[in-house]
Amino acid sequence: MARFIFITGGVVSSLGKGLTSAALGALLQGRGYSVRLRKLDPYLNVDPGTMSPFEHGEVFVTDDGAETDLDLGHYERFTGVAARATDSVSSGRIYSNVLEKERRGDYLGKTIQVIPHVTNEIKDFIHIGEDEVDFMLCEIGGTVGDIEGLPFFEAIRQFAQEQPRGQCVFVHLTLLPWLAASGELKTKPTQHSVKELRSIGLTPDVLVCRSEHPIPDKERDKIALFCNVRPEAVIPAYDLKSIYEAPLAYHNVGLDRAVLDALGIADAPEPDMQRWIDVEDRIHNPEGEVRVAIVGKYTRLEDAYKSIAEALTHGGMANRVKVKVDWVDAEIFERDDPAPHLERFHAILVPGGFGERGTEGKIRAARFAREKGIPYLGICLGMQMAVIEAARNLAGLPDAGSEEFDHEAGRKRFTPVVYHLKEWVKGNATVSRRPDDDKGGTMRLGAYTAVLKPGSKAAGIYGTTEIEERHRHRYEVDTKYRAALEEQGLIFSGMSPDGRLPEIVEWKDHPWFIGVQFHPELKSKPFDPHPLFADFIRAAKEMSRLV
Ligand code: GLN
Repeated sequence: MARFIFITGGVVSSLGKGLTSAALGALLQGRGYSVRLRKLDPYLNVDPGTMSPFEHGEVFVTDDGAETDLDLGHYERFTGVAARATDSVSSGRIYSNVLEKERRGDYLGKTIQVIPHVTNEIKDFIHIGEDEVDFMLCEIGGTVGDIEGLPFFEAIRQFAQEQPRGQCVFVHLTLLPWLAASGELKTKPTQHSVKELRSIGLTPDVLVCRSEHPIPDKERDKIALFCNVRPEAVIPAYDLKSIYEAPLAYHNVGLDRAVLDALGIADAPEPDMQRWIDVEDRIHNPEGEVRVAIVGKYTRLEDAYKSIAEALTHGGMANRVKVKVDWVDAEIFERDDPAPHLERFHAILVPGGFGERGTEGKIRAARFAREKGIPYLGICLGMQMAVIEAARNLAGLPDAGSEEFDHEAGRKRFTPVVYHLKEWVKGNATVSRRPDDDKGGTMRLGAYTAVLKPGSKAAGIYGTTEIEERHRHRYEVDTKYRAALEEQGLIFSGMSPDGRLPEIVEWKDHPWFIGVQFHPELKSKPFDPHPLFADFIRAAKEMSRLV
């Protein structure tokens, strides 16, 4: 049976619980243990699929088609363990399950209450797959003291009570603010946060203290004394230049040791950190720099494209270059010529997105990249825009567009080169959708196979002709226009196994122009960069030598 590590946060939000959990997972893996990481989120959305990326950052999609929190992306990037639908849950999902059971009559005769019905549902969730791994790491979203979080804190309290001693450990992340006026780190917020935790029956075993300044021994001892943890279990967490320094940095200050000690594990093997030593070496010793423009809509918040930003970094690591990313608002090109805005970049990436706003600008960016021979990677909407660009400007379809935008506007304006997919094949089953279906969880989601054209650039990059990539979209490029587009040199180099859905397109006579209907960024890792990103940055590096 697994041991359970619960990670909670206090004082303020955004302290990096996700990263800390991911790094701890990587450290335990380095010691030869198997791990799985989970996120329990107190918000009431059933999943983050319907939340604005401005509010909540990107939606991370799992192979089995769940729309989950972006922290699951960190977990995968640090551990390489593919997340599953059962690794992410929210209050909304928990309540929805409980209410469904209530309607079905599963609790017949009972009054449904937070304790025990909601807390039992949370505990059942934590137990899923417990026999498969040595360590199950469960991060509780939000901050201790939040009203929505209470059922989760209560559930993990009960959970630990029900386990044999030494099976569960509580790691609490806090902040030590620095008061410039008096030149001191303040421990009081941490003390209060622990007091808050203890008032609901939870005692942290390990405290991870974020701090912008070195924590003197005196302060560490004070925290230990007042918060009732061992001094060696007060772990400093200083700001890092790169998130990928976190595993080694945390190891050096004893995080994994403190967690193992709290669990009474004295015979853990020393960690093999070679993977992270190599990752750090590549990050800190680049041999050049490439500039990449991300032409998108949600450019105000980097978290909206978290996985893309990370995958570009990984592509840089594969080529030993630093990737300097600039976020360019697509709407600029609706007024301005793209040239002055895009000329200085060695590569252009148009990411996924929803809705019409900004799309004319993305189409112009795709044209600019095609005509100027600049490496272009179009992801999902970015591929759809590249195809529309080709249809309009080369294949004689000046009104080419996406049905998505006509649906949004409520009137028909475009030739639907990109159309609303209503039926497709998943494994051996057929999935169908209606245009008026619910918005939540009704897209073509999760891993699908694509078959690549032998001899194409895509097949060369992947080194195989069958791939599996994750999807999250409703609309598809219509193969009705394939012949007309291929005549112009746009190769359909990846298709769904039944040949109906275009998965990859590429320009024949272009140094590097690829559009993909899926999200390769979700599978990239620092120690295993995604081949498309590695080759995209290789092409950008070549470009940087030319200009
Ligand atoms: N909005 C487009 C669709 O639904 C693209 C989605 C995306 O880029 N993830 O097909």
